[in-house]
Amino acid sequence: MPIDEQIKTLHSRLPKDVTLMAVSKTYPAEAIAEAFNAGQRIFGESRPQELKAKYEVLPKEIRWHMIGHLQTNKIKYIAPFVELIHSVDSARLIEAIDKEARKNDRVIDILLEVFIAAEETKTGWERQELVAYLQSGEHLKFHNIRIRGLMGIASLTDDEAQIRKEFTALHDFFSHLQKEYFAPSVFDTLSMGMTSDWEIAVECGSNMVRIGSLIFGARDYGF
Ligand SMILES: *Cc1c(COP(=O)(O)O)cnc(C)c1O
Repeated sequence: MPIDEQIKTLHSRLPKDVTLMAVSKTYPAEAIAEAFNAGQRIFGESRPQELKAKYEVLPKEIRWHMIGHLQTNKIKYIAPFVELIHSVDSARLIEAIDKEARKNDRVIDILLEVFIAAEETKTGWERQELVAYLQSGEHLKFHNIRIRGLMGIASLTDDEAQIRKEFTALHDFFSHLQKEYFAPSVFDTLSMGMTSDWEIAVECGSNMVRIGSLIFGARDYGF
C-alpha cells in the first residue's frame, strides 16, 4: 500500500486515544514528506545525527521522537528540538538529558524503557531496578526532564500468548508506577507495539504505537 494510504488506514484503525508514531529510521526525507502530507505529524528515529539531519530539511511542524539507544555524548544533537525520548534506560542518561535540556532552556519529556522480552539482547531497566531508583527519589532533583511514562519492546516471536503476557505485564507495571510515584496527568504515556505486534499492544493498553515498516516498506539493512 502506498505510504499516504497506509497512514490514513492506520489513523482510521487506531482507537482515538492511541497515538501513531511513524518510525522513519533509514527511510529518506521524501518518504517522510509523503507521510507528512497524508497528515502524519509524529516521527521517530533511532540515531541522533540522522534525526538532526532530517529535522533540518523537513517541515518544522513535525514532532520528532527518539527511540534508539542514546549515548550521552550524542544528546546534544537532538536536545534543542526533540519532543519525546522513548529509550531512557539508565539513571546516568536521565541526568545527562537533564543537563542538555537545561543548556537549551527546555524541559524534555522522556519515557523509561523497561526490559520485558524473554531474550537477553533487549535493553531497558529491570523492573526492580527502576522501582529502587524511583523510591530513592533521585529523579526529583531534575527539573529539565519530565518522566511521561514507559516504553517496552516485546520478544520477537510468533507466539502471541508470549507477546500478550509481556505487554500485559508492562501495562500493569505502568499502572502501578503511575499510582505510587507520579501524577497521572503527567505520567500518561505507554509506548508499546510495532509493525508485527501493534494490535496486541493496543488490546493490552498501549496508547502510543511505533510503526515503521508497515508504513514505509521493509528496511533493507540491520535495525
Ligand atoms: C525500528 C523500531 C520500531 C519500528 O519497527 P517496525 O517493525 O518497522 O514497525 C519500533 N520501536 C523501536 C524501538 C524500533 O527500534
